[in-house]
Amino acid sequence: IGGHPKPQDGPTKPSGVQRIVAIGSGKGGVGKSTVSTNIAVALAKQGRKVGLLDADIYGPSIPRMMGVNKRPASPDGKTIIPLHAHGVTLMSIGFMMEEGKATIWRGPMLMGALQQMLGQVEWGELDVLIVDLPPGTGDVQLTLCTKSELTGAIVVSTPQDVALIDARKALDMFATLKTPVLGLIENMSMFVCPDCGSEHEIFGRGGVAAEASTMGVPLLGTLPIDLETRLAGDNGTPVAAGDSPMALAYARIAEGLIK
Ligand code: ADP
Repeated sequence: IGGHPKPQDGPTKPSGVQRIVAIGSGKGGVGKSTVSTNIAVALAKQGRKVGLLDADIYGPSIPRMMGVNKRPASPDGKTIIPLHAHGVTLMSIGFMMEEGKATIWRGPMLMGALQQMLGQVEWGELDVLIVDLPPGTGDVQLTLCTKSELTGAIVVSTPQDVALIDARKALDMFATLKTPVLGLIENMSMFVCPDCGSEHEIFGRGGVAAEASTMGVPLLGTLPIDLETRLAGDNGTPVAAGDSPMALAYARIAEGLIK
């Protein structure tokens, strides 16, 4: 009666949310959260109503990257009022935890937290809810892909072989779970020396583009290693909030995402 999804119910979506797009990766550290926050901010700058759900339960970085970290209010003890930053409606398990403390939870608790963040947060009217997944192919991905009505998933990878091998596993998981893959993003694809302009392919280059063409999915963007991106993330104002070439690159990715 209470409107909470029962296990036998089909996939659900918070009412008022038009699309849910999950952003995943095979490995950690490839820039998935950086890409999630920047796409969300770029979409908001284009006038979209955007939510960002940090489902990276073991390593929530959204509070730091979006520069907001306080406990969301829950006036009735049931629904949760999300936070807002850079035009984006936000929820992260990190808001409920002390920074520096480990999440030591068993599967059912994790799933409970995920369901709560999806179902009990007052997301309001959103054109798109971006979900920053944990890396890999675990319980959170499985729950989200089967229990919520995902529009599709984006996979972020560096061009390095070890990252690509795991990215393929993530792609395989989405295929198995019948979650459409909207495209791949190659992050840290090269480094342009700020002094002399020469290009350095630190993690290689082009590997993700090749994978996208093999898989028959779009390559949504190719993003270089960029100091400003890193600093902006650490400072809580994503690079997409500004007007640098990186902000432009994210604006292009965001434009392609919602037509
Ligand atoms: P993940 O979510 O995949 O674990 P993060 O987004 O947390 O990865 O990124 C890992 C680190 O790399 C962060 O410190 C972030 O600022 C940095 N980073 C991500 N993308 C870039 C980039 N294109 N250029 C420079 N630093 C980056």
